[in-house]
Amino acid sequence: MNSKIILLKYGEVVMKGLNRSYFDNLIIKRVRYLLKTVDGEFSLDYAQSTLCIRGDENADMDTAFEKMKTVFGIASVCLGFECEKSMEAVCRTVSEHMDTLIGGAKTFKCVGKRSDKRFPLNSPQICAEVGDIILEAKPYLKVDVNDPEVSVYIEIRDKYACVHGGGEKGACGMPAGSAGHGLLLLSGGIDSPVAGYLAAKRGLAIDAVYFESPPYTGEAAKQKVVDLATKLSELCGRIYLHTVSVTEIQEVLMEKCDERMFTLLLRRFMVRLAERTARSVGAEVLITGESLGQVASQTLQSIAVTNAAAKMPFFRPCITMDKDDIVVQSRKIGTFDISILPYEDCCTVFVPKHPNIRPELDKILEEEAKIPVDDLVDRAFETKTVIKIG
Ligand code: ATP
Ligand code: MG
Repeated sequence: MNSKIILLKYGEVVMKGLNRSYFDNLIIKRVRYLLKTVDGEFSLDYAQSTLCIRGDENADMDTAFEKMKTVFGIASVCLGFECEKSMEAVCRTVSEHMDTLIGGAKTFKCVGKRSDKRFPLNSPQICAEVGDIILEAKPYLKVDVNDPEVSVYIEIRDKYACVHGGGEKGACGMPAGSAGHGLLLLSGGIDSPVAGYLAAKRGLAIDAVYFESPPYTGEAAKQKVVDLATKLSELCGRIYLHTVSVTEIQEVLMEKCDERMFTLLLRRFMVRLAERTARSVGAEVLITGESLGQVASQTLQSIAVTNAAAKMPFFRPCITMDKDDIVVQSRKIGTFDISILPYEDCCTVFVPKHPNIRPELDKILEEEAKIPVDDLVDRAFETKTVIKIG
């Protein structure tokens, strides 16, 4: 057996009532799936709002620990050392792993958590004993209970005891797939992958759709979106990426419609095609990376005109976020470096010089009356392909 142990502390799901097991099962399913990609055999044991992961002697506990930080529904993740439930074993474990627990710190404190009240020492007594062992081994250390450089946690639980250096923040949110199924409009930009991540973090299973415009947009632009979806799927689970060509739609718009309304007319086509794609896979909400006021097509009026093209609800997780904050989030989830690769997007191929920032739905409908909207949607939908990712 491996003496390392991983503790996953559950977040918001602990507030659930009778349907709690539904959420717990989804967390466990995701944990099991991720552990299959890590060397070694693992076993899971759930008690007291904490999932404990043990590995065999070949288990790569450090990699498993990193992966567990991506599981939605988990508030914190600890990598610790398990031992028998006796003070002697606790002290021996602290001594054995002293360097890992203390590192180069000059100050420390001990935190005792005794949830098994049958254990003969209470938390302050446990801390006092462990503190003595640490000070004996490293006499230069100082105890600082208010602002220590490191904390040594001793947890005495019902079924086991363990020692660790404190948890790292988990992915939080709600378990993958617990909130239903959404379709992400995924462009190659910075915002939409972040929107997809945030929606998945609240429990949505995600499919994605990418609108391309060959030959105006190329293979490299599409590969970039595949790479973004791949990155997202590492965090959010399997993604089916649908691609739809809007080339004919763009050419007809160019030929027949007022250039100032071009972007919004195209967006309304995207939304119609997204809604149809969503229905075909059982998704119930459209997710976009729009942020209020970021560009002309993201003013309140433009968004209202866009919404009017679909019956399905929209989630726009980035709507109130500043670009800087979206960038911070995209770096965190590892999509930023892919997003900034300089490939064209179909929205950027034909951009009006003076886009209308206060569009009126009546005027848009007048433009749409000049073209065969339904036929164009039908023909574009026929170009749909799907790639399974993750
Ligand atoms: P992003 O950084 O996500 O590309 P953006 O700031 O470039 O967003 P727009 O180009 O106006 O903004 O797009 C707004 C939203 O519309 C995107 O976040 C995305 O959800 C969707 N979208 C735009 N272009 C495409 C596309 N080619 N395929 C799929 N969805 C798209
Ligand atoms: Mg874009």
